[in-house]
Amino acid sequence: MKIGAHLWTGEGLIKTIEYCDFLKCDCFQIFLSNPRSWKRKKRDKEEIKNFKQEIKKRENKPIVVHMPYILNIAEDNKKLIKKIINFINEEIEESEKIGAEFYVIHPGFHKGNGEKKGIKNVIDLLKSLSKSNIKILVENTSGQGTSLGYKFEHFSTIFEKIDKNLGICFDTAHAFQSGHNLLEFKKVKKDIEKFIDLSYIKLIHANDSKTDCGSRIDRHEHIGKGKIGIKGFEEIIKDEYFGNLPFIIETPKLSLKEDKENIEILRRIGEKYGKI
Ligand SMILES: [Zn+2]
Repeated sequence: MKIGAHLWTGEGLIKTIEYCDFLKCDCFQIFLSNPRSWKRKKRDKEEIKNFKQEIKKRENKPIVVHMPYILNIAEDNKKLIKKIINFINEEIEESEKIGAEFYVIHPGFHKGNGEKKGIKNVIDLLKSLSKSNIKILVENTSGQGTSLGYKFEHFSTIFEKIDKNLGICFDTAHAFQSGHNLLEFKKVKKDIEKFIDLSYIKLIHANDSKTDCGSRIDRHEHIGKGKIGIKGFEEIIKDEYFGNLPFIIETPKLSLKEDKENIEILRRIGEKYGKI
């Protein structure tokens, strides 16, 4: 079991490695640019080269890049779709350059067009992306508003139609909020397996939930302080498949102190069940 956090990149990729060292992350996730802006940050070759060298020394794996929130991959405005495709292609190209393994995307919002049309838009957009060595992980969602990907049925429909390098990022808070009670993990696993093969799941976003199971309201909480609780995380980590995946926290933080505590809690559970 590898444990890491979503780290800031605002002060440059070398600073990100300092955070990684401070937190003793085995793996980590980043945004390549401001997640709430269409602007892409220009990064020079030197910064990327230095970053790769430092990573090589530490063997952090996997490095994950997360798509900015601003993109809706279920969009149906042709002009916007083109813009999104170009944006993601550029991000994936840079992800490859920095040595990332996964690119996480949110399956978007249907905005009143209905889930069927929304999923079709997602499939069409994913099919249009350029080929690369990066695996795209589609993240499950809480089902807030018109968001797609809160049912594992959505994933099986997408995967059936696409012959690309795809997988799933399993967010624990989103799974819980969309109605999967992680405290009964064996049942959750069976429910997921009705629709997809577990081997599609490559990464865990480890977040506790401020809101109830089935709330469809996306609010992350510190590990053990939310409705999933330590018991819920024990159930996941104990599991022979899930407990051996990389875990990355996206819990609230004002400083790195909170990340450190959350990582320590997960590490203790991992040690307790022989996963570390
Ligand atoms: Zn997430």
